[in-house]
Amino acid sequence: MNCPICKKPAEMSKDNPFRPFCSERCRMIDLGTWASGEYRVAGGKVEDKEHPDDRKKPRLLH
Ligand SMILES: [Zn+2]
Repeated sequence: MNCPICKKPAEMSKDNPFRPFCSERCRMIDLGTWASGEYRVAGGKVEDKEHPDDRKKPRLLH
């Protein structure tokens, strides 16, 4: 059986706690975690990193 999220082959054995999904990530996607914002915390770190870089750009010269 393939993972309903990413369509990759997913292990349907007891060894896979995320079945019918292939991974925790796909299970989270199915649960709507991406939309609910829990994963935004991880993404926010990237945004925080990008923000100072944006400030470094010589916008004042424009
Ligand atoms: Zn998957």
